[in-house]
Amino acid sequence: MSECIFCEIAAGRSPASVEYEDERVVAFQDIYPKAPLHILVIPKKHISSVADLEEADADLVSHMVFVAKKLAEQRHLAGYKLIFNVGKEGGQIIFHLHLHLLGGWEKPAGEI
Ligand code: AMP
Ligand code: ZN
Repeated sequence: MSECIFCEIAAGRSPASVEYEDERVVAFQDIYPKAPLHILVIPKKHISSVADLEEADADLVSHMVFVAKKLAEQRHLAGYKLIFNVGKEGGQIIFHLHLHLLGGWEKPAGEI
């Protein structure tokens, strides 16, 4: 068994509320939501962090952003936040790349 929880979710071996999946990414609900809608978009391939991205990953990261945008549109979100926490000091707890999609507030969310 992999030690990476998000690799386990991507492989379907750990439970998650999956919102979207294709050959490259999986999107699922965050178990401790920080907004009315909180979805994580992850690559199926293990990459630890934005800090470890390589040039060859550019298409994959762009695909992650596009998937988040489509999920937000499907849910008719007027506005939303897309966040990558990078490194322990940047608030990253899970070291498998993930893009937070946060939204669903009734009033403007304001700044971070
Ligand atoms: P980060 O601080 O950017 O590393 O965010 C990690 C996020 O993963 C947090 O918002 C957690 O609530 C979320 N999380 C941790 N374990 C799981 C899990 N098994 N399923 C869904 N979300 C998770
Ligand atoms: Zn992983």
